[in-house]
Amino acid sequence: MRDHSVEALNIVAELLKRALGDEWVVTDRDLIEGYAYDETPEPIRPKAAEHLVLVKPASTEEVSRVLKIANEYRVPVFPVGGRTGLVGGCIPTKPGIVLSLERMNKIEVDRENLMAVAEAGATLRDLVKAAEGAGLFFPPHPGDEGAQIGGLIATNAGGVRAVKYGVMRNYVRGLEVVLPTGEVLRLGGKLLKNNAGYDLMQLFIGSEGTLGVITKAVIRLFPRSRYMVTLIVPFSSRADALRAVPEVLRSGAMPLAIEYVQLEEVKRAAEYMGEKWPVEEGPAQLIIILDGMRLEEVLHACDEVARICEARGAIKVLVVDSPREQDRVLRIRGNIYTAIKRDLLDILDVAVPPAKLGDLMDAVDEVASRYGVDLPIYGHAGDGNLHVHIMKGARGLEVVDMIRQEVYKAVVRLGGTITGEHGVGKLRAKSLDLFLSEKHIEIMRKIKRIFDPNGILNPVEHL
Ligand SMILES: Cc1cc2nc3c(=O)[nH]c(=O)nc-3n(C[C@H](O)[C@H](O)[C@H](O)COP(=O)(O)OP(=O)(O)OC[C@H]3O[C@@H](n4cnc5c(N)ncnc54)[C@H](O)[C@@H]3O)c2cc1C
Repeated sequence: MRDHSVEALNIVAELLKRALGDEWVVTDRDLIEGYAYDETPEPIRPKAAEHLVLVKPASTEEVSRVLKIANEYRVPVFPVGGRTGLVGGCIPTKPGIVLSLERMNKIEVDRENLMAVAEAGATLRDLVKAAEGAGLFFPPHPGDEGAQIGGLIATNAGGVRAVKYGVMRNYVRGLEVVLPTGEVLRLGGKLLKNNAGYDLMQLFIGSEGTLGVITKAVIRLFPRSRYMVTLIVPFSSRADALRAVPEVLRSGAMPLAIEYVQLEEVKRAAEYMGEKWPVEEGPAQLIIILDGMRLEEVLHACDEVARICEARGAIKVLVVDSPREQDRVLRIRGNIYTAIKRDLLDILDVAVPPAKLGDLMDAVDEVASRYGVDLPIYGHAGDGNLHVHIMKGARGLEVVDMIRQEVYKAVVRLGGTITGEHGVGKLRAKSLDLFLSEKHIEIMRKIKRIFDPNGILNPVEHL
């Protein structure tokens, strides 16, 4: 039987070469392999299609040409960023075009307005450096700096420093987007306020490459705080550690980050990096980052946080104040996933109201003991967002679905969501109805059809 999707793709590949030049249209499957997967744990990672064409446009105009051709021939297009996603969002699961914006990576910092204009293919690393170079600060820090601006916005990424200033959505002030039909939309701008009409820009943030291709963004930056201190606070039980979090949030200390880690995994990450984790006692630990313009203000906040944690049973409070050491602590924290990845079956990304963190922990402990498995947890406790890890071990893939389902049900019962930051991608679609109503999903499908009438952009089951 003839495969029409492959035939159409072959025709489209020739048209793309004419539009972009041979050099930027790759058809050799071996050269595409590195673009065909992301950081999703291997046992549950969706399989990429065999027949793929990789394109690397250099401008918004070229992205538009790619989409017009694809739309005319009804060929799927899969936008990829840094491929650091954890839910298979960018994996090209059907014969189609893999669209990488890596050549579009310029960043201009506008100090007057405290904003950066970044092309979608620039990396988080590039943005952090550009902001620092201008004496400014881009607070959010999802763990992998290879993520690209387009991917960060398309997933509405969060990360370690979201407690005080919020997730990606809170930073994006303007967007340039190419629709699946090839038209270009420019939304928002260098504006802090904008109430003109429905906010379509917000719709694209977190749309995971299903509504349009993000080509450029205006991103808000902040003045750099003069003083920053990191506290590492070990506890003997995870419930105690997590029950301290809402109290810290209520105290008015306003940390930049409140992370929860477990000694075993954070030590493994340190070893993986050839480093040593500074606190060897207490299986459950909080990492709290405080910042401010005046030293007394930061020290006062440290005292307040230490007092709360000690009242909750903290073993001690380690103060890390040198910028180099603080950077080392953050890097070790950011590498936990990479260090334990090969022993993982799945990483869940649940979020509950912060005051329910202790209850979430009890529920996870209960599931773990019922299935006789270890479910290590770490994550962004200050946002109520924790990553529950289902590890390889005595139990295989057959229990993953059951454990995941049980954890999700407990989370929803606590008023939480099945994904706080990683998104739906191609892995979580089947669980969406646990959290979203039928009506909500129906409206999402209709919105998808308005932007993408032929369903070519990153086609996923639930839309
Ligand atoms: C070690 C590690 C730590 C991590 N820590 C965090 C964390 O703390 N917080 C967090 O939120 N995430 C975290 N992640 C997940 C991941 O880094 C984020 O989801 C990130 O935003 C993905 O960006 P990316 O450029 O790699 O996108 P990709 O993985 O390439 O793609 C992700 C999605 O975005 C779409 N997309 C990409 N570019 C575009 C574009 N230009 N236009 C439209 N759609 C596009 C893709 O189609 C896909 O659906 C972590 C991942 C790793 C490996």
